[in-house]
Formats: sequence, C-alpha cells, structure tokens
Amino acid sequence: MEKNLKELSPRRVWEKFYEITRVPRPSHHEDAIREYLLAEAHTHGIEAEADAAGNVIMRKAATPGMESRKGIVLQAHMDMVPQKNGDKAFDFVRDPIEAYVDGEWVKADGTTLGADNGMGMAAILAVLESDDIEHGPIEALITATEETGMVGANGLKGGMLRGDILVNLDSETEGELYVGCAGGLDASMTFSYEEESVPASSTAFLVEVKGLKGGHSGIEIVLERGNANLVLFRLLKMAEKAFGLRLSSVDGGGLRNAIPREATAVALIPQEKLQTFGEMVKTFDTLIRAELKGVDDGVTVTAGDTSMPASVMDTESQNRLLNAVQGCPNGVIRMSPSMPGLVQTSTNLARVVSENGTVRMQALLRSSVDSEKEYLAETMTSVFTLAGAVVTPSGGLESQYGFADPENDDRILRGALRPQAGCHGDPRRTGVRYPGRQVPEPRHDLVRTYDPLSALAG
Ligand SMILES: [Zn+2]
Repeated sequence: MEKNLKELSPRRVWEKFYEITRVPRPSHHEDAIREYLLAEAHTHGIEAEADAAGNVIMRKAATPGMESRKGIVLQAHMDMVPQKNGDKAFDFVRDPIEAYVDGEWVKADGTTLGADNGMGMAAILAVLESDDIEHGPIEALITATEETGMVGANGLKGGMLRGDILVNLDSETEGELYVGCAGGLDASMTFSYEEESVPASSTAFLVEVKGLKGGHSGIEIVLERGNANLVLFRLLKMAEKAFGLRLSSVDGGGLRNAIPREATAVALIPQEKLQTFGEMVKTFDTLIRAELKGVDDGVTVTAGDTSMPASVMDTESQNRLLNAVQGCPNGVIRMSPSMPGLVQTSTNLARVVSENGTVRMQALLRSSVDSEKEYLAETMTSVFTLAGAVVTPSGGLESQYGFADPENDDRILRGALRPQAGCHGDPRRTGVRYPGRQVPEPRHDLVRTYDPLSALAG
C-alpha cells in the first residue's frame, strides 16, 4: 500500500511526502527531520544550513536568464501534531507514519498523517530538486516547532533570508491563497441605569428572538444573516414609542466572535395595551421573516407571559440604550473594492446583557484595512458616547491582530498565483483569512488534519 502513495501525481511531490512520513517528527523531536532535510539538500547540491533556532534554510540559484527576478522564499514547518487513536500502539518519536491510499484520499492508520505540514515540505523539496522548472532565486525556510508556539519562526534572526516574496505553504485548503489576515478589535460598551419599581397596572412579558443561524462573525458575516440582538431591540424600540414599554432586563448573544442566534428581554406593557402589543409582535414576526427570507427562515419573535420582575430601568437610560443600539453599526460595513465577494470591514454586536444597574455590550470589529477598522471604532464610540455609555476599545495595539492590506499593489496577486488560486477555490475566501484557529472553521479542513484519522485529498 505504501507503493501506491509514491505513484500519485504529481509524482515528485508524493515521493517526497512519502519519504517525510518515514521520518518521525513530533514537535520538540525534530533532529531527524532536520537531518533528512540537510541530507536531501546535500544530495542535490543545494546550499543549506540550520540556524540556532533549529530552522533549516536552503538556497537555490535562479535558472540561467532569471537571475534578475525577485527572490521567492517558500516556507513550511518541519514538526507535526502527534495524535493517535486510543487503541493504536504507536510511538511518534520512533515509528514512521503508516500512510496509505484509500480511494481519493491519503490516510494514516490510526494516527495523524502529518500532511500539516509534510505536504508543504514535500512541495518545496520537489521544486528545489527539480531541473525542469524555470525560476528566479529560491530560498526555503523550514521552521522548527511551529505547532507548539512557532518557536523557530520567532527565533529566526534578521538577515537570514534574501528573497522579497514569502509564500507560506502551511494551509489545508486546496485552491486557496491567503494574502492577509483581517485585524480585529473588541469594543465594550457599558450603560448604567437606575433600577425603579415596576409601574402599576402593567403586565410582564418575556420577549424572545430565536431560530437564527448565527455563525462565526469573521466568516459568515458576508451571508447577511439576522442578528438576534438587533431584531430584539428593534421591537423593543417600536413598543417603547407606541406604548411606553418598560425594559427590565435583556440577555442576547453569547460568544464575542459569534453572530447572535438568540436574544431575550423581560419587558412591561401597560395592561390596556396588551392586545395591541400582541398584534405588534405578530406583525413584527411576519416582517422579520420576510426580511430574512432565504437567509434565516427559522427566525421567530414571540412574547409570552412571565413572572413580574423586581424592577425596571429608568425611562431616560432605557431610551438612550434603545437609541444607541438602533444607531449601532452592524454587519458588513464595506466590501473589498478589488476582491469581489470579500468582506473588507465588518462588525457584529455579539452580546448585550443587563445586570444590577448596568447593561454590558460587546462588539467585535474586523477589517483588513487598519484605518477602516479605526474609523469604525470611532463611529461606534461616537454613537455610544452620545448615548451616555462608557466605551472601551479593549487592549490597545497589542491585542489587535492582522496584517497585510490586500488592496495594496501586490505583485503576488497580479502574478501567476492568483489565477491558480481562483481556479478551484472559493472566490469569497481567496483573499484574506480571518484568524481564529480556536474555532473549527466551516468549509475549512483545519479539523481534519488534527483528527487521528487524518486524510488528505489525493
Ligand atoms: Zn501547519
């Protein structure tokens, strides 16, 4: 079965991948793979060295006539994540991975396959060892101990590399090319309110917005799904205006990077307005279903009886709160002008929760253009400051992440790689990858290569 692996196409890549599977290389046990890489370079007359951080750097001169081209650095990492099934007897420090071909897939028998990032190394070696590919000056950077803290990358000394363009080959999705990473910024808004006794002759309702699909706010924001917090507050504001609804408490959304799927509020309605309120909720439910038709067909808005709360918000604070949420920017703010279908700037009002005289809100702003992110943060700050809230874009510069402005004149995008990436990939995701490795991403293979029974498209 191992023979099959080497017969896959492109053959040179699979031959190298097969060799790599034979070299044990869990993080922190990387001497063997480093020696393999240096030996490969030696065999093929490629200049190579290992640096103090354990990285391997290789250099191959341009093919004749291509010397003036920009230098390219191909990057991968040498270690792998060692995971196995409970009943598999296997020592990642000593045993070669048992890789085999199963139909359209290359799999490992009861362990991780190490395609992350064995395929990256295999592709690099295939290029370096080739004599039939025309290229400018090429360097390879194979970093050490990536999976447990990017030790090699962090330890790389300045001046080791000469190339201008670095192509990282540590990605799991075929046909996709990432040229940047959207930056994020947490915004927290806090309202204070007085707790007042409940008005006489009123009835308490639990208003519930449910059935929305939600999703990851960095990935699914482009789908224009409903935001449960905004749906809820829209109804609350309508009822405040029409009948003087009094808000007692609110609880919407959950994780800061999730589009909220559910939101609830306890509100009081004057008894003489009960019927009108019931009709308003029904009409609003129909309206929201119509607006979200085809996007969030499961949405429901209901109001049911609930026990009388101990207090309500003072009317002035409530009014400021409802106005601020109404004015809060949300969803896609700007699409990329140069990459069709790519969200450039967005925000998501993820969480709204009241407790003991304060309402806390959290939004996560994202943009691949720093200045747009900062402008959006300032807009949010303006709206909530006008409404009397305290706004804290948290963390300062340190906690913000993201790099690269894909709108800049980027020669990689204009070169050969872009059309290649666009051929098979999802064009919506060709451009910028949102960070968030903590969340298994839908339509992304990140989980698969960490699963014990990992598989790789053949
Ligand atoms: Zn990796």
